[in-house]
Parts: sequence; structure tokens; C-alpha cells
Amino acid sequence: MKVLVCDSISPRAVERMRQACLEVDVNDKITPEELLQVIGGYDGMVVRSRTKVRKPVLDAAKNLKVIVRGGVGVDNIDVDYAQAKGVKILNTPGASTHAVAELTIGYLFAMARPIVQSTISLREGLWEKSKFEGVELAGKVLGVIGMGRIGNAVAQRAAALGMLVLGYDSRTVGTAPYMHMVELDELLAKSDFLSLHIPLTESSHHMINAEFIAKMKKGVRIVDCARGGVIDEDALYDAITSGQVAAAALDVFENEPLSDRKLFELPQVIGSPHIGAATKEATARIGDEVADLLIAFNKEAC
Ligand code: NAD
Repeated sequence: MKVLVCDSISPRAVERMRQACLEVDVNDKITPEELLQVIGGYDGMVVRSRTKVRKPVLDAAKNLKVIVRGGVGVDNIDVDYAQAKGVKILNTPGASTHAVAELTIGYLFAMARPIVQSTISLREGLWEKSKFEGVELAGKVLGVIGMGRIGNAVAQRAAALGMLVLGYDSRTVGTAPYMHMVELDELLAKSDFLSLHIPLTESSHHMINAEFIAKMKKGVRIVDCARGGVIDEDALYDAITSGQVAAAALDVFENEPLSDRKLFELPQVIGSPHIGAATKEATARIGDEVADLLIAFNKEAC
């Protein structure tokens, strides 16, 4: 079985697949044009979030049998079209939970206390002590939308910091001692901080829009370590400039790599280039799971 690794995974995973007699090519900088040229020669492909697997790629992928997404969200793959063509989609859902939850908690702190802004100020040679008064997380209400793996991991950690956690999910999920499940409107009305942990789907696209934000407390702080398209970035910009939203921390964006940087002209916005799962530990776990999945798939197919 011939596999093309299109996005970076651990060298150990590549080595393990080769030892299991898979023929593996790694081209983690492959462009969309190059991918169209070569994909016809492969039975399997490995992607993370960078490579988009849309209809043209799937049409060119005449021999493709399996796509393994190292990570959780499969919104970079045209899943229905791939499955209609008989291509199996596999992913590694649990491997990045701790990494994303910890980044989210880091952002809660960094929105409560202006760690990033004061570092920039110090770099500029300033000593603006009175400018950087923050707020405390303890005693504040955190609303978590999407109480799956990552939402729960964030809720547990936030509760341990003394936050009151309200959770909302579109499906029925069991409750836990570290949070209360509520209706969405109650969560919006009561939350001082909001954290998003839902996939990007047709129904969640621009879920956080002007109308949604207007239902929230004035001065709410929002963190998105899930998917960019869930937030209407223009509405967020307006809400920050009006003072309705006090701060935002964004790891993900509607268009990646980020092209429109207007949100980052606002000092209340901090962010990162989609690094939620980028820890040494998560990279190793994702690689191991990708290798396990492809080795098992190859055995089944033989
Ligand atoms: P999960 O499937 O365990 O949980 C997602 C939860 O969201 C589910 O309980 C689901 O019912 C709920 N949900 C779906 N649509 C909803 C909606 N419209 N309203 C309310 N709830 C809704 O997934 P997870 O492992 O917790 O991951 C959550 C998301 O985090 C992923 O979908 C992915 O997009 C994102 N993610 C980002 C990074 C990163 O690098 N920043 C890394 C991994 C995952």
C-alpha cells in the first residue's frame, strides 16, 4: 500500500509504517497543485489541518482507499464525497485533548491578565504598571459550548481554578460534578468567559454572530481553540470596538493562514496560528495513532 503523508507527523510514525511494509512518501509542504498531480499514485493519504481534500483532489485520487486525519476535525475533507467514492476516513480524536485544553486555559489566564500586552509594552521599553490591571478567574462564570472531550477537559481544569462552569451541547450529555448543563440562552446571559469546543459544520458556521454576542454580558471574554468559521470575525471585531466583548483569544481563523489581520490591530485580541494540538506529547500520540490506523487498515485490506 502506497501512502502520501501531506502534513507533518512524527518521524517515529513514518518509521513504524515503513517497518510494517507500507510504502510511505512524506511531502509535508506539498502544494494543492502538486497534490493534484501526484495523488493518483497513492492508496492512502495522511493529513492534518493544512491539506484540504476537496472534490478535485478526490477526483484525481483514482486509487485512494483511505484518508487518515491526524487530529479531530475532518472539516478539511469533503467527507460525504469521499465516502461516496468508497474512501474510508479515519481520525485520531482523543490524541490532542490535553494539548487543546491546556492552551485554552492558558488563554483564559492571558485574557484575564494582560500577559501578552504587557510583554509587548516591556519590549518597547515602557513601564505601564497602572495600564495592566486584570481580573481574576476565581469566582467567574465560564460558559463552555461543546461538552465533548475537549470541552470536558477545559471544564474540569477551570472548575479546579475556582470558576463556575456552565456547559451547553446540542446533544444530551451526562452531567459531571465540575459543571452544570444549561440552555444556551442561560449560558450566554451568565458567562464572564466563553470557550468554544464544537466542530465546524453547516449549523455551527458563524454561530457566534452579532445576535449571539448581543445576548452575552457586556465585557465577556471569548476564547476559540475549536474552529475559526464558528465565529463571524467581522461581528467579533465590531463587538470588541463597541466594548461588548472585552477580549478575544483566537487559535483558529476562518481563513488560514490568516490573511485579514484587522482583528490583530485591536490590543484586546491575542492569538496563535492554529497550534492547539502542537505539543510534543500530542504530536507523538497523533503519530502513533495514525500509524496504528494505517497498519490495521492495510492488514484488513490484504
Ligand atoms: P467532540 O466530538 O468530543 O466534542 C464536540 C462536542 O460539540 C460534541 O459533544 C457535540 O455534540 C457538540 N456540538 C456539535 N455541534 C454543536 C453545536 N452547534 N452546538 C453545541 N454543541 C455542539 O470533539 P473534541 O475532541 O472535544 O473537539 C472539539 C473541536 O475542537 C473539534 O471539532 C475541532 O474542531 C477542535 N479542535 C481544535 C484543535 C486546534 O488545533 N485548535 C485541535 C483539536 C480539535
